[in-house]
Amino acid sequence: MISRRLVLHFPLAIIDKPIICQMVKDYGITFNILKANIIPNKEGLLILEVSGKEKDVESALEYLNRLNVQIDPLAQDIKRNDEKCTHCGVCTVFCPTEALAIDRATMEVDYDAGKCIACEACVKVCPTQAIEVYF
Ligand code: SF4
Ligand code: SF4
Repeated sequence: MISRRLVLHFPLAIIDKPIICQMVKDYGITFNILKANIIPNKEGLLILEVSGKEKDVESALEYLNRLNVQIDPLAQDIKRNDEKCTHCGVCTVFCPTEALAIDRATMEVDYDAGKCIACEACVKVCPTQAIEVYF
């Protein structure tokens, strides 16, 4: 038995389809939803832990791939290095949950770890590498 913690990005065209139910039925895996979020007019995000025999989990992920679901491993923790952050605001454009958001009073970028789904979108765009990922 193995377990994988994953971030799934569902294209808009399939977010209303019972894909996870079908996956469980066809491949006999179990899952635990950690977080779910729909980004209007963009995509559905699902963070879950899947468990099962290794070959069944791999087959289930291939099934998702065939449906154009983007699969990323889930980081355990995301931290912002405040010494490196210049509050440029770039990450706030890409953060799907507003965990990174501009405080209009101070014009600084606040980070709310409670809203973070560890999708790592901010990591790729931060010009100062201020976002740190812990696995
Ligand atoms: S992109 Fe990086 S430097 Fe800019 S506000 Fe976000 S964390 Fe700070
Ligand atoms: S990883 Fe970054 S972009 Fe993704 S939700 Fe967390 S703070 Fe936002």
